[in-house]
Amino acid sequence: MRSEKIKLINVQNMSVNDGDGLRTNVFFYGCPLRCRWCANPESFIDPNKAKVDMTDDYELDELVDKIERQGIFFRFSGGGVTFSGGEPTYKNIDVVYELAKKLYDDGYSLAIETSGYFEYDKTKDLLDLMDTVFVDIKVMDDDKHRYFTGVSNKKILENIKKIARTREYLNSNRDININGGTRYQDGLDNDSSLSGSGSNSRGDLVIRVPLIVGVNEDEENIERLGKFLGEIGDIKLEILPYHRFGLGKYNKLGLEPPSEDFDTPSNERIAEVEEKLKSYGIEIVSYK
Ligand code: SF4
Repeated sequence: MRSEKIKLINVQNMSVNDGDGLRTNVFFYGCPLRCRWCANPESFIDPNKAKVDMTDDYELDELVDKIERQGIFFRFSGGGVTFSGGEPTYKNIDVVYELAKKLYDDGYSLAIETSGYFEYDKTKDLLDLMDTVFVDIKVMDDDKHRYFTGVSNKKILENIKKIARTREYLNSNRDININGGTRYQDGLDNDSSLSGSGSNSRGDLVIRVPLIVGVNEDEENIERLGKFLGEIGDIKLEILPYHRFGLGKYNKLGLEPPSEDFDTPSNERIAEVEEKLKSYGIEIVSYK
């Protein structure tokens, strides 16, 4: 494999929230967005300018070796590897693809968590290796999206439509596509306590919404979201209530913390939002 190193902010084993079963989450350094509530600010701050450098450089072989040591857990839980960040498609897409292809060919089930802010044509081959694609939608209004994240949401929404079409195709050709690797789905993948409520199938697209009071939990945004996703059809969505777990990292890195105006929605409000979204034909899932 390439000798080029890859910069990561973390490699987390035994993760259960970002796909089916037990997973190794690989958190890539770099992100083109600047979400005002980001829980992983180490993913975008220049490590040379931060008070501490929270990144690590890995050789690809070294990373593959570290992941493959978890193989037994993937096998018995129906788990695998989740590419996360930061934004995993943002830097060194060729190296990220090479890592994914190696893991795919070795039979690992793969998932990716992405902001959706990428050039589709350059990213498609990577996405096609993924059993599950998680894409965030932060805010539907483009001006608000620019204000809260630093970029327009147009490319993200367009990419979601394209991914949905491709996923539909992968699902309808599952037998053909699955031959690329001996997927680790023959273990305990029917054990719902390990697999979450998302289905363990190739071709899933799951929209994730970080629900934040003061940003996107208002009725107008929820209606626009429901309408947009309802028109795509056959789509899964997970609500991730805002949390302030990343605060300690802001202090450590010497950064201003996120605004106190952002707040966590109540359980009642989350349930209301989920009900509303279901009325557009959206399936609500949870990987908690
Ligand atoms: S897309 Fe994710 S990693 Fe990037 S700034 Fe936003 S919350 Fe942080």
